[in-house]
Amino acid sequence: GEEIERPCFVLAGGEAVLSSGVNMAANTGKRVALVTGGGSGIGRATAVRFAELGYSCVVADIDEPSAKETLRMLQTPGIAVQVDVTKATSVEAMVTAAVQHFGRIDCAFNGAGIAERTAATIADTTEDEFDRVMGVNAKGVWLCLKYEIAQMLQQEPVMSDPTRWADKPDVCRFRGVRGSIVNASSLAALYPTPTHAPYGASKWAVLGLTKTAAVEYAKEGIRVNAVCPGLVDTPMHHRNMEKLSPEEREREESLHPVGRIGAPEEVAEAVCWLCSDACPFTTGEHLKIAGGS
Ligand code: NAD
Repeated sequence: GEEIERPCFVLAGGEAVLSSGVNMAANTGKRVALVTGGGSGIGRATAVRFAELGYSCVVADIDEPSAKETLRMLQTPGIAVQVDVTKATSVEAMVTAAVQHFGRIDCAFNGAGIAERTAATIADTTEDEFDRVMGVNAKGVWLCLKYEIAQMLQQEPVMSDPTRWADKPDVCRFRGVRGSIVNASSLAALYPTPTHAPYGASKWAVLGLTKTAAVEYAKEGIRVNAVCPGLVDTPMHHRNMEKLSPEEREREESLHPVGRIGAPEEVAEAVCWLCSDACPFTTGEHLKIAGGS
């Protein structure tokens, strides 16, 4: 295929800087997907899947080289953006860069997250760990929702395929969707998480934010859902497993009824479906992708 030029926006100190000087058409008419945590694991697989489905992609991550690496894997136009989801100015600049470049944000996957598996009980958990994990996983998702939704509210509603629901006028009562957002929660949001309280609490918080945002913006044509993956084969999972003995690891990895851990692509598929116009009546929902758990 033809080589597509993919310039990179690099955000330095909250300022958007076009690093390559090449300007793509402001609005290609294609659907635009933004993915945080797009430099690794589930976020990377989701950006790749969005691109396979024809979306232009904004790949955002705190780790700029890995975001650019993901960008190189995409077949559609895209930009890489450095973002720290814990900082309002940085998240706002990410959304600004996306809109400057592609004109709108149709779908967002808020996948950036951290898991510090310190195996500490509540009494032993440090204030620093609690603040760090809640900062990225809970505050980070709130900030992303805040700025993504502010942008989506300014957009004209569209349907990616205007013929899709043509015989069901009620589905298109709001004349399409302004945007659709999926947040990364976890199976850890549905069960107690002994020795990982900050992580568990942060993922319960993601469900609270998801369900609240879904209700607040339902009539505006913005849908907000969450995915709750079980154990998924990503760099995060490997870092966690390194701390376990081989027997503990074996036990943990055969936890799900299907007897294996998931692939990031299996989560990506669900994220893209939830984001798509295939499910206009699905909002405020959380979907387990956890091999029967
Ligand atoms: P990962 O560590 O492979 O990728 C996470 C990405 O988030 C990294 O590229 C990292 O640089 C980025 N990130 C971290 N802090 C950031 C910040 N402050 N600003 C912007 N980006 C930041 O992890 P993964 O396994 O792909 O997990 C993705 C999401 O799915 C996370 O929210 C995670 O909690 C959740 N999840 C993962 C699993 C699993 O088993 N892997 C299970 C359930 C939920």
